Amino acid sequence: MDELFATVRSEASHTLDQVQISLLLNAGLSADADIAMNDTADGVGLFRTEIPFMMRDRFPSELEQVHSYRRVLTSYVGKPVCMRTLDVGGDKQLPYFPIVEENPFLGWRGIRLTLDHPEIFLVQLKAMLRASIGLDNLSIMLPMVGSLEEVRVARRLLDRAWREVSAETAGEQGIIRYPSLGVMIEVPSLLYQLAELAPLVDFWSVGTNDLTQYLLAVDRNNGRVADIYDSLHPAVLRALQQIIDTARQHARPVSICGELAGDPIGVLVLMAMGYRRFSMNNSNIMRIKYIVRQSRIDELQKLLQEALSHRHTGAFKGIFGRYLEERG
Ligand code: PEP
Ligand code: MG
Repeated sequence: MDELFATVRSEASHTLDQVQISLLLNAGLSADADIAMNDTADGVGLFRTEIPFMMRDRFPSELEQVHSYRRVLTSYVGKPVCMRTLDVGGDKQLPYFPIVEENPFLGWRGIRLTLDHPEIFLVQLKAMLRASIGLDNLSIMLPMVGSLEEVRVARRLLDRAWREVSAETAGEQGIIRYPSLGVMIEVPSLLYQLAELAPLVDFWSVGTNDLTQYLLAVDRNNGRVADIYDSLHPAVLRALQQIIDTARQHARPVSICGELAGDPIGVLVLMAMGYRRFSMNNSNIMRIKYIVRQSRIDELQKLLQEALSHRHTGAFKGIFGRYLEERG
């Protein structure tokens, strides 16, 4: 099967009815593996910057961060690279910065932690900006945002980082372009603030792993409740449709970077809803490209209407699963 998928490695990613679908990489685990995908991925849709932090025994210096970010940015030159600011807390612990809490997934995570430690946040932002000198492909994304105020404060810190790096490097090197700033849509409170969020940021990326976890109140890592952790639950699907519809109304680019994007049935459902940009682990890109190239958007839209009329999750798996089987 892997050989079959490999045949599409250098092929374009579009459906049979010629709709362009961008397939990007979720990166961070291994710089070498990430770079090896630069010929087939349309860019990096999510660089989980906390992973290199987790592999160390102390916070990396600004210069160390510059080197690791620059490697990825230069290997994807001409393609977009979206770097997410540190998303520690929850299940992602730094050995040298222990966080002990009763409810870590509801606690000090992601943007909450970095806004409480602007010195950590600023070093990271400055490293990303420095790494992007002379390149034109960096965008920055904020994890675990639940309120507009978090975005406003983060934006002010990004402004400050950009002014400082621009002043420090003036005359020496190339221009530092001010990067696009986006947010992860993964905390349900944002679903009710999307219209107000739109003018504050340049793009959205949906984190279906956490969005599912928080919408359904089901731990994403707990095997005991794994059978009710369902990214195709009607409530999650309704949220996903609302996000793409609102993004279009406000002309905000939106992508999906949770596991659902790399799931064969998930990606078909998302394409039917109108999503055109997906970020996933490197092991999934070729398989999903193969599926995209076998699909037609008009057919998927009809299947979506049919599945919605049945009003239960099993309908999506059955109807889209059959479509997959028919295409080998
Ligand atoms: C998500 O929550 O869907 C996501 C992509 O972020 P992470 O899995 O790193 O929490
Ligand atoms: Mg997440």
